[in-house]
Amino acid sequence: MSRSAKRLLNGAASGSIPFAHGSVLPRIDSNFTAFRLEARPSKIHRWGVYALEQIPAGRKVIEYTGEKISRRETKRRGDERELHYLFTLNSYWSIDGSVGGSGAEFINHSCAPNVYARIVRNHILYIAKRTIEPGEELLIDYRFEKDMETVPCACGARNCRGTINLLE
Ligand SMILES: [Zn+2]
Repeated sequence: MSRSAKRLLNGAASGSIPFAHGSVLPRIDSNFTAFRLEARPSKIHRWGVYALEQIPAGRKVIEYTGEKISRRETKRRGDERELHYLFTLNSYWSIDGSVGGSGAEFINHSCAPNVYARIVRNHILYIAKRTIEPGEELLIDYRFEKDMETVPCACGARNCRGTINLLE
């Protein structure tokens, strides 16, 4: 993950490097999952989250949890840390998945995602876009804003944008 990810204030977690804040091994909190999931090394980026059972399209997979922080604190943490897990909830609040994260913060970016985020009453829910088979890595489009510094993508999808930023 490049330094430019520091500026992430929008989209999903900015990277899945679990050692950014010490030796934190990825862990999935089953209190926030609706299906059996597991964190393990990913070909895309360090750690990833994998389905251990089939997940039907449209079902909630996991909630993205963490510390709720203000816009000012979001900016401070984003500037201070090279790697972080900030998910913008709305124009004021963000969720920092590095504090009390459910494990959803380890879900990698792909330009061909199989989950998407839906915000329901201030909860960030990751929903299956299609049927996900056991053993598949969960992937979400981080949708970095196009006016942010460009972060290259090597997700390997046929339709890879070449960047995790939106093109328009
Ligand atoms: Zn890509």
